[in-house]
Amino acid sequence: MESEERLVDFIQPASWADALAVKAATPAALPVAGGTDVMVELNFDARRPETLLDLTRVSELAGWDTDDGRIRLGAAVTYSQLIDDLGGRLPGLAMAARTVGSPQIRNRGTVGGNLGAASPAGDCHPPLLAAGAEIEVASVRGTRTITAADFYIGVKRNALQPDELIRAILIKPSAGPQQFSKIGTRNAMVIAVAAFSLALHPDERAIGTGIGSAAPTPRRAEQAERFLAAALDDAGLWDSRGDLPASITQEFGRLVSRAAEPIDDVRGTAAYRLHALGVMAARTLTWAWHDYRQNG
Ligand SMILES: Cc1cc2nc3c(=O)[nH]c(=O)nc-3n(C[C@H](O)[C@H](O)[C@H](O)COP(=O)(O)OP(=O)(O)OC[C@H]3O[C@@H](n4cnc5c(N)ncnc54)[C@H](O)[C@@H]3O)c2cc1C
Repeated sequence: MESEERLVDFIQPASWADALAVKAATPAALPVAGGTDVMVELNFDARRPETLLDLTRVSELAGWDTDDGRIRLGAAVTYSQLIDDLGGRLPGLAMAARTVGSPQIRNRGTVGGNLGAASPAGDCHPPLLAAGAEIEVASVRGTRTITAADFYIGVKRNALQPDELIRAILIKPSAGPQQFSKIGTRNAMVIAVAAFSLALHPDERAIGTGIGSAAPTPRRAEQAERFLAAALDDAGLWDSRGDLPASITQEFGRLVSRAAEPIDDVRGTAAYRLHALGVMAARTLTWAWHDYRQNG
């Protein structure tokens, strides 16, 4: 068989301004951070980009900082870096990061890459939704922030314009317990069959949730959030930190499951995903409430 030889332009800007200029001039250029999604797609010939825009030399993407009380996580911060540096301040995201791939993947793979890929099964998405994170994106036209809830717009589609790049993720450090739970077909190196993340925000008397792998996009379970916040308020539980009635845990699980819209696929059935979400929601709430009571 005759092999078809293709040349790919490989552009390696050394600064953020140069990266944006390349993306403006060549919107079809495919950004590469850790390459753990992109290289797989190239190897399987799932994509044939004419230009690769390598972001690994843009140093400002690789660090994190604090900005007006929020953590500003550069798009190219790796999972390993996140776990090492921010496990205490961003516990939900760090828990999710610990479940990603293998040590090699965690050393290369980035949070920005997970957002760029926007897979419904990406592990960062549920905790970013639960924490109310915002995504800072930029182009030569300027910078804007998009809430995580508005960022995912379809299966593997995000809200980026063709000339935009992800610059950073803005997340408030946790004010209360956070949890992440993921079901896979084995213990490690596994794409989620379903995932769920929960954040208690006692400072705002609010609840954050994120569902993964159980709808066309990652999404919040908003009715479940409202129900739980109101139930905790009505029973005075935010202040008393008393026992959480089983009726609340069960109803929360039911409402989380109701927010999902899963499909049957090779990893699991829709029915299993709905059941699993209800169980994960109830369990993560039990764990988070236990933490909340311990740290009162
Ligand atoms: C063996 C293996 C196991 C894996 N396990 C998991 C897992 O358990 N959980 C999970 O969620 N994922 C998993 N993945 C997928 C992958 O590792 C993650 O999605 C990772 O976060 C991708 O990050 P990256 O930096 O490697 O992205 P890349 O491959 O560099 O890029 C991914 C996408 O994001 C875009 N992109 C990257 N940076 C930017 C930017 N700054 N602005 C705009 N677009 C950008 C790219 O163009 C591309 O479309 C696995 C992959 C492999 C190969």
